[in-house]
Amino acid sequence: MTAVVEKELHELGNGIYAYTQLPGSWGWSNAGLITDGDQSLLVDTLFDEKITSEMLESMRRATPAAARIGTVVNTHGNGDHCYGNSLVADSEIIGTPGCVEDLREGPPSRNNLLLRAARVIGALGAGGRMLGRVLNTVGIDRVALLAEAGPLALPAFSDFDFANAKLTLPNRTFQGELELQVGDKKVILIEVGPAHTRGDAVVWVPGDKTLFTGDILFKNAHPIIWQGPVSNWIAALRRLLDMDIETVVPGHGPLTDKSGLAEILHYLEVLSVEARRRYDAEMSVEDAARDLTLDEFRGWLDAERVYVNMHTLYRDFAGDSEPADPLTLWAGMGRMRKHMQRG
Ligand SMILES: [Zn+2]
Repeated sequence: MTAVVEKELHELGNGIYAYTQLPGSWGWSNAGLITDGDQSLLVDTLFDEKITSEMLESMRRATPAAARIGTVVNTHGNGDHCYGNSLVADSEIIGTPGCVEDLREGPPSRNNLLLRAARVIGALGAGGRMLGRVLNTVGIDRVALLAEAGPLALPAFSDFDFANAKLTLPNRTFQGELELQVGDKKVILIEVGPAHTRGDAVVWVPGDKTLFTGDILFKNAHPIIWQGPVSNWIAALRRLLDMDIETVVPGHGPLTDKSGLAEILHYLEVLSVEARRRYDAEMSVEDAARDLTLDEFRGWLDAERVYVNMHTLYRDFAGDSEPADPLTLWAGMGRMRKHMQRG
């Protein structure tokens, strides 16, 4: 299945660009380019080499400063923001320690292997599901989880090429804040995670009042809270809302302004309250996710993420800061998607 994706390089003015892949569902992330004179800084690469190379070409057509990318910032360690790093391996690549950790644990080869396994299990049909149930009873749950994750993950990720992607980690890390210079332009990296992942950072160009958020912001889609704590994400959004910012480039979805940050802040606050009520009533994560109506967010993409969000909030409430098993989360979202389709 090939998703319909509209790719566009937007010139924001004064040497700043945003690259969007809309509508911005699973894996279709945004990126940015900050230039001054012949200097350049790339905010994030994309999910595979092919689409990253396509993006770099469009940037090079737009400005000679993109001919050689001096610095790359990975906003966090999810593949859709880093797997294209191999194309800019000669650049300085900056990320937080949490970003490096996430990327090291989730290289393209792992995605490739899991998708291949899910494809095989999917091809077995009912036989695969039965095999999963049998193995489950003896404590081997991976097959059953893959069978549940497959119907969501396979169509979502079939457009990307993980088989040929090479893992390239950031070669410089920072914590807290890091001030950089791109030509005469001041660029400030601010670590705001753990929130969406273990090591989220945003890229702020104060002189141009522009913010690249990474996946601290999804526009017109449910955010996904892989890591938490949610209170940290909420604090980050409040901090950003207080800053002098006019243009906001989200990690996924169309360009926005501070109103986009306020929307996600509201979403996280509503979800926290609703989750706490169900946690206190000892409802399971699965039942709680299905029980939520979230009518005011109807129409947002990828509502199956509510399962993961609920899972993370429950871990927050229990004081558990260990990352959850990704395959368990994917399987839960697969079941959630199926449940939603049944209506
Ligand atoms: Zn992303």
